Amino acid sequence: MSEKRVYTFGNGQAEGRADMRNLLGGKGANLAEMNLIGVPVPPGFTITTDVCNEYFEKGKDDVVALLKVDVEKSIHHIEKLMNSTFGDPENPLLVSVRSGARASMPGMMDTILNLGLNDEVVKGLAKKTGNERFAYDSYRRFVQMYGDVVLGMKPVNKDDIDPFEAIIQKVKSLRGIVLDNEMNVEELKQLVVLFKNAIKEQTGSVFPENPVDQLWGAICAVFDSWMNERAILYRKMEGIPQEWGTAVSVMAMVFGNMGDTSATGVCFSRDAATGENRFNGEYLINAQGEDVVAGIRTPQQITKEGSLRWAKQQGISEEIRAAKFPSMEEAMPELYQQLNALQDKLEKHYHDMQDMEFTVQEGKLWFLQTRNGKRTGTAMVKIAMDLLHEGLIDEKTAIQRCEPNKLDELLHPVFDKEALKEAKVLTRGLPASPGAACGQIVFFADDASKWHEDGHQVVMVRIETSPEDLAGMSAAEGILTARGGMTSHAAVVARGMGKCCVSGAGAINIDYKARTVEIDGTVLHEGDYLSLNGSTGEVYAGQVKTKEAEVSGDFAELMALCDKYTRMVVRTNADTPHDAEVAKRFGAVGIGLCRTEHMFFDKDKIKPMREMILADTKEGRETALAKLLPLQKKDFVGILKCMDGQPVNIRLLDPPLHEFVPHDIKGQKVMAEEMGKSLAEIQQRVAALQEVNPMLGLRGCRLGITYPEITTMQTKAILGAAIELKRQGYHPMPEIMVPLVGTYKELKQQQAVIRAAAKELFAEEGMEVDFKLGTMIEIPRAALTADEIAKYADYFSFGTNDLTQMTFGYSRDDVARFLPTYLDEKVIEVDPFQVLDQTGVGQLVEMGVKKGRSTKPTLKCGICGEHGGEPSSVKFCHRVGLDYVSCSPFRVPIARLAAAQAAVEK
Ligand code: PEP
Ligand code: MG
Repeated sequence: MSEKRVYTFGNGQAEGRADMRNLLGGKGANLAEMNLIGVPVPPGFTITTDVCNEYFEKGKDDVVALLKVDVEKSIHHIEKLMNSTFGDPENPLLVSVRSGARASMPGMMDTILNLGLNDEVVKGLAKKTGNERFAYDSYRRFVQMYGDVVLGMKPVNKDDIDPFEAIIQKVKSLRGIVLDNEMNVEELKQLVVLFKNAIKEQTGSVFPENPVDQLWGAICAVFDSWMNERAILYRKMEGIPQEWGTAVSVMAMVFGNMGDTSATGVCFSRDAATGENRFNGEYLINAQGEDVVAGIRTPQQITKEGSLRWAKQQGISEEIRAAKFPSMEEAMPELYQQLNALQDKLEKHYHDMQDMEFTVQEGKLWFLQTRNGKRTGTAMVKIAMDLLHEGLIDEKTAIQRCEPNKLDELLHPVFDKEALKEAKVLTRGLPASPGAACGQIVFFADDASKWHEDGHQVVMVRIETSPEDLAGMSAAEGILTARGGMTSHAAVVARGMGKCCVSGAGAINIDYKARTVEIDGTVLHEGDYLSLNGSTGEVYAGQVKTKEAEVSGDFAELMALCDKYTRMVVRTNADTPHDAEVAKRFGAVGIGLCRTEHMFFDKDKIKPMREMILADTKEGRETALAKLLPLQKKDFVGILKCMDGQPVNIRLLDPPLHEFVPHDIKGQKVMAEEMGKSLAEIQQRVAALQEVNPMLGLRGCRLGITYPEITTMQTKAILGAAIELKRQGYHPMPEIMVPLVGTYKELKQQQAVIRAAAKELFAEEGMEVDFKLGTMIEIPRAALTADEIAKYADYFSFGTNDLTQMTFGYSRDDVARFLPTYLDEKVIEVDPFQVLDQTGVGQLVEMGVKKGRSTKPTLKCGICGEHGGEPSSVKFCHRVGLDYVSCSPFRVPIARLAAAQAAVEK
């Protein structure tokens, strides 16, 4: 806990620095740093993130008392530099109050602009600027924001429009005007009164006239916003700890709405959607920051090149573009040159793509913020590789710049080109976040979540989105908005989530009450299908077929770089040649787990399998197994051939036998008929297989020990397949794995059965193949006695699904009953079946590796539980010395990147 609670900046000086983001938040640290490197920033101060924690521990009054002296001093600091006074009607200083956490959380917390205005100060501002309209426009915006953020004005019903917006529309309609900037001074004055009355009426609070009260209200509201629902949800999704807290930055206001020599905008040093190295962004002349992101006016492009692109996408002619929507490069060429030079300076300083906010006040450019820009997975990889090629970062940094989970987006489907030819384009919007999405239309965030839970794929269609829509956006396949540009809330958040988004599709008319959307005469209802192409902005009627993504170019280069630095290799969990093929394309170098039981559910195999289960005698079982053997062998030929020259770890039968018999009467009747038995006989056998606790019952190696003929059959099928392939010139590398071992004697017994079966087969075939024999470590006792078990194993594979189940004592199949409560109550932080519990289960893994290698130094160790594809768990596996991780095919690249990062971090 730092003693210093407030850090000032301004005029090229700062008490903070870029590397103090933990304490000052990203925004506060970068505001300080920009001062230090000569980027023009309005003066201000930052209250630390530690104070946020104090605020929730000690309460509002105590923290205000603690901060009072420092905040007053810092306000004087701004006053001196701005040559104006807070609350002085003659020469007023106005400030903005902004949130800023350590990790960027765009739009999740609150910001208040124009603070310091009241009925007196506004007159002074009008006099000082000679611009009454500007003064009252600023005032009404401030009352509106303060009412919303600090005093809690919200729509009463979810389909009502914002209460302030409703008042604005009423005032405008009286004179038949459409745009906000058409309102005259009298109308703006009227808004202030109406807003204050509405606040009083709805919330019971009186708008505070005293600027100092306003300031404390705003500071506390920003801290409070750390705990608002959407911020909590965002933190959960992004894994941001609550203890990080938010900082509060208070900064002198500069105004983009002081006439036609003023402007405001948001820009990116590279394309956040594609990663292309093109400076881009949007701005508005005579506007304030929120106008650009809120989609109230159509923002214009910063560069001419961007403007031409935009006009083409929107189908706008060059005459209209140049006259009505000129770029900043054309409309304000000198300022554009300054902006361009500074964005370049910032990118070179931070060695990463920057997302910046700026304001031009009467011809002077100010930067209000810079941060490393959120980007899509595609852009993430391209930017990392480009910065590497440009010499701005080194190879290790390039690897660390990529977030493993974000690679997921690159691996997912795009529209099938052929299907697209047939598809009907309904309209076009902006290509806000790439990818293909297809789903049923919903209009509200809570519907999106509900429909998604019910198994529907949905596309969320909104006039515009707000942070309240976060959960719905996360549940939707894609998002379509009528308003808002490339930096609108919808666009920024969708890109962060890797969701497809088309924004600003101006031709769509949404009727929330009727739950319809009209697009050029076509009326679509809730539940109708719509397809979106977030890479082109096209919106299609109905369902358009998608296809798998390409995995070449920058992605392939990144993967090659990972291979250069990684120590741990990545295998895949696959039971079919198709899955193995997909995984190979993604770079898997072997199979870490082939679950043989999945093969038995095939139509042709389930019958002999059930015959085997029904048999009362060893002979009966052997007859059935003899039928299964050639079928299993065929499966193994397929998978070993596909992974030729790479290890294929095949696990012997694991699940309890009741999983293979039908539990419903209909299924049992069919089975009785097929088996030539009576229904009663079948039911009797099914009943006999029932166990009170099947996951702890007759399963795993207990099956092979009880019925060694199953182990024999499977061994012969695996090794028989390998011999067949070897004869054809292939290089099969089978591994036979014994599941659920808890004592070395179990493995010793199964080893004897496997070796005997192999010997017999080799003699029959007159040919031998090499194979490895290993076991899963998935029972705590196995980890505790790994030194004994290792004597009988060539390798260990940690089955962390069962190991988690048995270490926590949480049933894998029933955990959903209490997990949500546990997460809400913070009994546990994350689902341990997804993210390896390094503190508890991890100890067993580490111990297993150490003990195992203490008796067999050459012991190979891997993991095949679900955790093998989860980045933090993969990194743990690296640290405890595993040789490989194995995961589902689509997670292979994620695991490769995480493994390389672990190696680089070391
Ligand atoms: C495990 O328990 O981690 C494992 C991989 O096996 P299964 O999920 O099949 O029980
Ligand atoms: Mg298991």
